[in-house]
Amino acid sequence: MAEFVLGTNSHPTADEVFSQVLPSCPTLSRATVYNTLNLMVERGILKAQRIQDELVRFDAMTQAHHHFVDESTGQIYDIPWDVLQLQGHEELKDFEVTEYQVVLRGRLKP
Ligand SMILES: [Zn+2]
Repeated sequence: MAEFVLGTNSHPTADEVFSQVLPSCPTLSRATVYNTLNLMVERGILKAQRIQDELVRFDAMTQAHHHFVDESTGQIYDIPWDVLQLQGHEELKDFEVTEYQVVLRGRLKP
């Protein structure tokens, strides 16, 4: 299971991980998948992300990065952190921003 989730960049949900791994491990329970994924997040091996909808998705890329969602296919792409810069710090001057993430949406040009 760890092999699958660390080897994919598809940002799977826990249910998607479960259905991918089940055929090769028929005794696997949904609870084990959930617990293992959460443990991997706690240990910093995976990052839990809410990129679109309310579902938590598991991301093997733990360094800061942004996402692009292809609205035609639902596929989620990783976008390098350096590509986008945060502007307009005025409203945030009393805060220390420790994390931000931009989710871009669009579709393939015709
Ligand atoms: Zn990602």
